[in-house]
Amino acid sequence: MNNVKLDLEQAHELAVNCLRANGCDARNAAAAADRMIEAEGDMCPSHGLFRLPWYASGARSGRVNGKARPRVQQIAPAVLRVDGDGGFAPLGQQVAHDPLVACARENGIAALGLVNMFHIAAMWPEVERLANEGLCGIAVTASYPYVAPAGGIRALFGTNPMGFAWPRRDAPPLVFDQASSAMARGEIQIAARDGHAVPETAGIGPDGAATTDPNVVLAGAQLGFGGYKGASLAMMIELLAGPLIGEFLSTESQDDDGGRGGPPKGGELILAIDPARFGDADTILAHGEVLFRNILAQDGTRLPAARRFTNRELTAQNGIAIPQSLFDEIQKLTG
Ligand code: NDP
Repeated sequence: MNNVKLDLEQAHELAVNCLRANGCDARNAAAAADRMIEAEGDMCPSHGLFRLPWYASGARSGRVNGKARPRVQQIAPAVLRVDGDGGFAPLGQQVAHDPLVACARENGIAALGLVNMFHIAAMWPEVERLANEGLCGIAVTASYPYVAPAGGIRALFGTNPMGFAWPRRDAPPLVFDQASSAMARGEIQIAARDGHAVPETAGIGPDGAATTDPNVVLAGAQLGFGGYKGASLAMMIELLAGPLIGEFLSTESQDDDGGRGGPPKGGELILAIDPARFGDADTILAHGEVLFRNILAQDGTRLPAARRFTNRELTAQNGIAIPQSLFDEIQKLTG
């Protein structure tokens, strides 16, 4: 497969120009491009430029508000809501950050419901930012129905990811961010695009039969990781990122899309916790370091996010590579 090499600035400009050409204003385009290039920079391509054509078509069709102005409301002492004004999630997430940090510092814990926005992508950017402020962060979101409930064969839950971050004094934060499905949807789409098989645990065909063909899984249903345990986590996330904050279940989000195949409209729940309100933050974080030292003392281990942090350093120097076909598609969409 031919690739096009870009430095991160060029990649950002490519995304901004494409989004602007498809109906986004400068602020919305920049926020969405920031998120995509952050993902590219950490070598998480399923949330990178791969998503750009999808974003462009959502904004071009008018379904997504490319000129959104998200609004922050405090609806209880420790509960915030951000209405995304029907735009892409990254601007709403950006606008929400400072009020969430302030609310968590004030109360010890704060919950944020992000509603009325499109395509909440990876969880790590928000929780990592919270940890960079010295807070613990937890984030969850739902999407479209891709995952069958345990024992069933019809997709009902999103691949519903969960992100967690813990601050560290002398190292980048501890962050993990994972789908509740055995594989992220984007990874299965990329496997289909590139003609690779997927593990049998990833999903089933429309008839419920096991398969390693990503196209058959895309037509059938994905499976939760670890069987019913992953399915229960996906169910929990549906409730927290849907009914709790006044947003869609994954099935409702799909109905709302009405077969247009655009990015999902939905919500995200983020919790921020301030260790300094539980006791002496230095003591608490030093205690956490004991656990990390004990993990790393075992051969074969690494901390989650270590891969991303290494990649971030590499791409800052060497740039990124995207498939020629994707580059051409973006150029075409940009006109
Ligand atoms: P992965 O299975 O690739 O990784 C999950 C987590 O485990 C990462 O934090 C990863 O860190 C860590 N990890 C991987 N290997 C090890 C190891 N050997 N030791 C310790 N930690 C390890 O993620 P998924 O495929 O489940 O999800 C990919 C992305 O897709 C996520 O960002 C998720 O938020 C997103 N997603 C979004 C959805 C949506 O609807 N918006 C739906 C589903 C997923 P590292 O990154 O350093 O490898």
